[in-house]
Amino acid sequence: MPLISARAVILQTFPYSDTSKILRLLSEEHGVRSVVAKGAMRPKSRFGGVLEPFTEGRAELFLKEGRDLHTLNGFDLIRSRQSIGRNLAAFTGASLIAELVLRFGTEESHPELFYSVTRALDDIGEADGDHSWRALAAVWHIVALLGYEPELGACVTCGSLVEEDEATRFDVDAGGIACICCRPRGRMIGPAPRADIQAMVRGGAGMGTPGEWSLHRALLRAFLSSHLVSDRPLRSLELFVEELR
Ligand SMILES: [Zn+2]
Repeated sequence: MPLISARAVILQTFPYSDTSKILRLLSEEHGVRSVVAKGAMRPKSRFGGVLEPFTEGRAELFLKEGRDLHTLNGFDLIRSRQSIGRNLAAFTGASLIAELVLRFGTEESHPELFYSVTRALDDIGEADGDHSWRALAAVWHIVALLGYEPELGACVTCGSLVEEDEATRFDVDAGGIACICCRPRGRMIGPAPRADIQAMVRGGAGMGTPGEWSLHRALLRAFLSSHLVSDRPLRSLELFVEELR
C-alpha cells in the first residue's frame, strides 16, 4: 500500500463511527479522493482539529489500489480559510463550488482545477464586503472549468456575433445568449451584466454592475439547473442564490 504525499483541499467532511471522520479531498496530483481520518474526533487527535471544509494542507495518505476509501495518515495545515464561515454568501458559494467539484471531478490529476478551486476559495475568504460578487465570480469560473461554459459572444440560434453595446436575451436550454430577434420573449440581459459574466467565466472579477442581482440569481439558477443537474439537485445552489445581494 503506497504512502503518498499530496497537496489537497478538503471539500466535505462527515463523521464516521464515534471518533473518526471521512473527508472528501481534491488533491493536486490524484484528483478527488475519499479518505478516512481515524480518531480525528478524539480530543487529542494527531490531526489537531484542522480537518474542516475548505482547509488546505499537505496530506499523507495510504492509497489502496482499486478501493474507494483511502486512509489519511497525516495532514500538515497550509491554509484554514476560517473566514469563509463568517459570511453566508461566502460559505454557501464555497459549498456550491465544493459540491460541483465532488459531482463532476474525477480521480485523474487536474492541476488547473486544483489551482482554480484553491484560488477561488482564497478569493472568497479574502472578500471585504463584496462576498456575493467574489463568490459568484468563483462559481462561474469553476462551472466553466468543469466544461459547462455558457456561450456569451454569439447568438446560440443564428450565430451572429453580439455587439458590445447590444442587449440580448438568454436561452437557458441552448446554454447561452440569443439576439432579441431570434428570441422575442424572455428576460433581457444588457451589455454590462453580460460583460460581468463573461469576465467571471474567464476567471476575472467582473465590474459588479449594481442593481443586477435578480438577473444574476435567475441566470445562475436556471443555467446550473438546466445543464449541471440531472436526477439530484445541487443542495447548495438554492442556498447560495438566496444569499446573492
Ligand atoms: Zn440570433
